[in-house]
Amino acid sequence: MARYDFRTPRLHISADLAAGATVIPGESAVHYLRHVLRLEAGAKILVFNGRDGEWEARLALPSKRDVKLEILAQTRPQPSASPLHYAFAPVKQARFDFIVQKAVEMGAGRLTPVTTQHTQVTRVNMERMRANVIEAAEQCGILAVPEIEEVLSFPEWLAAIPSERVVVFCDEDAERADPLRALAAAPEGPVTLIVGPEGGFHAKEREALLAHDRVVRLSLGPRILRADTAAVAALAILQAVRGDWR
Ligand code: SAH
Repeated sequence: MARYDFRTPRLHISADLAAGATVIPGESAVHYLRHVLRLEAGAKILVFNGRDGEWEARLALPSKRDVKLEILAQTRPQPSASPLHYAFAPVKQARFDFIVQKAVEMGAGRLTPVTTQHTQVTRVNMERMRANVIEAAEQCGILAVPEIEEVLSFPEWLAAIPSERVVVFCDEDAERADPLRALAAAPEGPVTLIVGPEGGFHAKEREALLAHDRVVRLSLGPRILRADTAAVAALAILQAVRGDWR
């Protein structure tokens, strides 16, 4: 049995949600409801805003141009934000989109693009990143929409990590060791995961990471993985050992 309704279309909207409220959806939402899903007046969908949980809503079409959503009843309460933060070096657009979508699906609570010495891509399209986050949340029924941070340089990112956080550093140069054991032996605390760029970390960056107080160096096996694969692999291990897969 599915844990929640995933057949009914689910739409992210920015307005506050409460029983009896009426929401006027934005242009792209109207397009999606009327021209992609081809819904008629009275159709029911699910809506969420990342704050108020998930609600059943009914489409109302008082006139040709007016589209409204009547908010009916809450279907799921708002879960708390995932403590798992994910930092990654931006890569070319198609892979970047993939990384963002997969990180949301895997349950990251915050996404931070970090530019490193070997990062080729420096400009990040934040709007597109946000659209990818929302689309992945809509598709996968994720109600706690991950936060997106502005791009930080590697030193800025490292300096801003709160002291209680454990930094899980995916390092293809780490001595091979069972990653499950490495994580089980790591200090308690919420995790910030970092995966490097296609060119890997610079020696100085690796040094700085290893000098961090609460760092766990993670090996993901004998093969060098592309950054997007490493991200999904590491997020899976983390969710299984310390996260919400347990
Ligand atoms: N050093 C490389 C490849 C970097 S792979 C080069 O010079 O091209 C991109 C990122 O994926 C790495 O920075 C690391 O964070 C992660 N990664 C890839 N394979 C890994 C492995 N086997 N173990 C741990 N991390 C890995």
